[in-house]
Amino acid sequence: MASHIVGYPRMGPKRELKFALESFWDGKSSAEDLQKVAADLRSSIWKQMSSAGIKYIPSNTFANYDQVLDTTAMLGAVPSRYNWSGGEIGFDTYFSMARGNATVPAMEMTKWFDTNYHFIVPELGPDTKFSYASHKAVNEYKEAKALGIDTFPVLVGPVTYLLLSKPAKGVEKSFSPLSLLGKILPVYKEVISELKAAGASWIQFDEPTLVKDLDAHQLQAFTQAYTELESTLSGLNVIIETYFADVPAEAFKTLTALKGVTGFGFDLVRGSKTLDLIKGGFPSGKYLFAGLVDGRNIWANDLAASLSTLQALEGIVGKDKLVVSTSCSLLHTAVDLINETKLDDEIKSWMAFAAQKVVEVNALAKALAGQKDEAFFSANAAAQASRKSSPRVTNEAVQKAAAALKGSDHRRATNVSARLDAQQKKLNLPILPTTTIGSFPQTMDLRRVRREYKAKKISEEAYVSAIKEEINKVVKLQEELDIDVLVHGEPERNDMVEYFGEQLSGFAFSANGWVQSYGSRCVKPPIIYGDVSRPKAMTVFWSSMAQSMTARPMKGMLTGPVTILNWSFVRNDQPRFETCYQIALAIKDEVEDLEKAGINVIQIDEAALREGLPLRKSEEAFYLDWAVHSFRITNCGVQDTTQIHTHMCYSNFNDIIHSIIDMDADVITIENSRSDEKLLSVFREGVKYGAGIGPVLETNILWVNPDCGLKTRKYAEVKPALTAMVSAAKLLRKEL
Ligand code: GLN
Ligand code: ZN
Repeated sequence: MASHIVGYPRMGPKRELKFALESFWDGKSSAEDLQKVAADLRSSIWKQMSSAGIKYIPSNTFANYDQVLDTTAMLGAVPSRYNWSGGEIGFDTYFSMARGNATVPAMEMTKWFDTNYHFIVPELGPDTKFSYASHKAVNEYKEAKALGIDTFPVLVGPVTYLLLSKPAKGVEKSFSPLSLLGKILPVYKEVISELKAAGASWIQFDEPTLVKDLDAHQLQAFTQAYTELESTLSGLNVIIETYFADVPAEAFKTLTALKGVTGFGFDLVRGSKTLDLIKGGFPSGKYLFAGLVDGRNIWANDLAASLSTLQALEGIVGKDKLVVSTSCSLLHTAVDLINETKLDDEIKSWMAFAAQKVVEVNALAKALAGQKDEAFFSANAAAQASRKSSPRVTNEAVQKAAAALKGSDHRRATNVSARLDAQQKKLNLPILPTTTIGSFPQTMDLRRVRREYKAKKISEEAYVSAIKEEINKVVKLQEELDIDVLVHGEPERNDMVEYFGEQLSGFAFSANGWVQSYGSRCVKPPIIYGDVSRPKAMTVFWSSMAQSMTARPMKGMLTGPVTILNWSFVRNDQPRFETCYQIALAIKDEVEDLEKAGINVIQIDEAALREGLPLRKSEEAFYLDWAVHSFRITNCGVQDTTQIHTHMCYSNFNDIIHSIIDMDADVITIENSRSDEKLLSVFREGVKYGAGIGPVLETNILWVNPDCGLKTRKYAEVKPALTAMVSAAKLLRKEL
C-alpha cells in the first residue's frame, strides 16, 4: 500500500511562516523564534502525512525561502559579493542572497517552470568553489526521525540545478554552468553518504528539467551524473522525480536507463503522453511513482478515474512496484480547505487543497491494495457528479457563444495605421504623448475604506464619495503634471484580477487559499469554477465619473482575459482556451460599454500573457494562437477612433514578438526601464514582419510612460518621477 507526496506547502495553513519571516527580517523577533515556527510547521506537516497513512513522506521540501537557494547553500556556491567566509551558511548569508542587504543587492529571481513560484537563480562561473556548506537535508531527516517519522529526503537534482543556473557576471556569453557537473557531484556524494549514515533508505532527486526540450548533450549529463553517483547511492532506493509536463520520448529513454536508480516519478496529470511511454515499455523491477493527484489546482481528484488508471499501470509495473503520488509538489496549491469559511458546502465538496490531496493519495493507495474506503469513494463520486451537472457550472448561452468563436478570426476591420490616424484626429495628442499604466499610490486610508465597505461597516454612499474624492485628487494631480492621457488611478481595486473576478459569474474566492509566490510572498488566486459571464458593467461607473472630471482623454482600464486566466485556479473540466474565450467575451462587453459611455482610450492589461507559455516549444504556437485571439476578441468590435492600449510588464519577448504584433493593439506599453534599449531592437525586428508595429517607431507614436502601475509606490517618489517624465517628453518634442 504505497503512497508518496512529492512535496508540501511551507507557509502553513494561516501563513505562519510568512509572518515569522517578516517579523524576523524587521528585527522584531529572533532567529530562534523563526526556527521554532519553522520546526513546528515541519513537525505538523510530517505528523499530518503520517497519520493520513502516507508511506513515503518527504523531508527537506521545507525551505526558509526557496529550495533552489537551499541547494546553492548546500553546495556553498555563494557569489563572492556576499563575503561569506566559509563554514555552515547561516541566516545572514542565506537571506542576503535572497533579499540583498544594506550594501549588496539580492540574487536574481525567476519563475519556477510554468508556475507562479519564483526561485533564486544560482550564479556560477569557472571560479565558483563548491563545499558542503549547509547540512539542512540531513538535519531535517534527523529532526523527523526524532519525531518517530522516517522520511524520504528530497534534493534538487544536480543536473536540474545546473540547467537552472546562470553564468556569473563577466562570463555570460562564454560559460556553461553544466560544465561544473564534475565539481558539484562530490558535494552531493557527501550529502548522500550522511543521509545514508543517518538511516535514510530512500532519496528523491527532483529533475523536472527532464520535461523540457533538452539536447543530446544535456541529456548525456543525466547519464554522467547518476553513473558517477551510483556507488555512493548503492544501498539506497533512489527515485528521480519529474513534473509539470510529459517527459519527451528521448528523455524518457535516458531517464529509465539511468544506473543506480530504483524508481521514477511522473506527472500523469499534465503529462498524459508519459502514460503512453510507460505502456510502451517500463524497465522491469523498477518503481513507478504515479502522479495522479494534481498539485497545481484545487479540485478534488476523480478517484474512480484515477483508480482505473492505476489498475492499468499495475498490469505493467506489478503490484509491489506501483506507488500512488501527487503530480508535483503540493507547494503550488492552497494548504487546507478546513479553513475555508466563505465557500459554500457545494463548492467545497468539489475541492481539495494540499491537506485533502494527501488524504486522496492515501485513499487511492488503499483502494489499489484492495482496501477501498467505499464511503469515501462514493462521496467523491457524488461530488464529481454534482459538479458535472450543477447549474452553477453550466451556462448554455455562454457555452454557445464561446463555441461560436472557435475557427473564425476576430480582428478590427481597419489596419493599425489608418486607425491611428482616425484616433489622432479625435484625440489630438502631441508627439511623444505621456500617460501612466493605471494605478496610483494606494494609501493605508484607501485600503481601509475598501475594507470597511466590504465588511459593510460604511455605507455605499460613503464609499462612493471617498473613492470619488480620491479619483478627483489623482485627476487634478495628472492635470498639474500636464500628462496627456489620464487614468483614474484604480483606487477601487485591490487586485487587478480579483476586482474583475468578483464581478463576474463563475468565480469563487477563498479566505485562506494562499500559494507561495516567492520568499514570504503569497498570492490568493481566484477560483474559476463555472462558465464565465458578466452580469453588469464593471468599470463604467468609475471611468465615466473620472472622465467627467477632465477635458483630457481618460483611459479606461481593464485586465485582459489571458491574465485573468493565468492568475486564477482554472477549471479542469474544459480546456483552458475554452475558459479564456468566455472571459474574453465578458471583457468585450465591458470594452463596448466603456466606448458607449464616451471613453475613447481603453487599456487592456495582459501582464501575464507570457507566463502562460507552455514549457515545450512544440506547444507554444497553439497557446499563443488562442491567447492572442482572446485578446483580439475583446476589442474587435470598437470603432476606429477608439484607441486600444495593452500593457505588459516585461521586455523579454524577443521570442514572442510575432504574437505581440498579432494582438493588433493600437498602443503597446511595456517595461523598458531595466532592459538597456534591447527592446527597441526587438521592435525594429518587428518592423520587418510588416505588421502594425512599424508606425510606433517610424512616425509620431512613441509613448512615454512609467514601466508599470504605481500602486505600491509612495507619492513622494511618484510626483518627482512623473514630473521628470513629462519634462523629458516636452524637451524631446522641441528637438524633434
Ligand atoms: N493597470 C495595472 C496597474 O497599473 C497594471 C498592473 C500590472 O501590469 N501588473 O496597477
Ligand atoms: Zn505592469
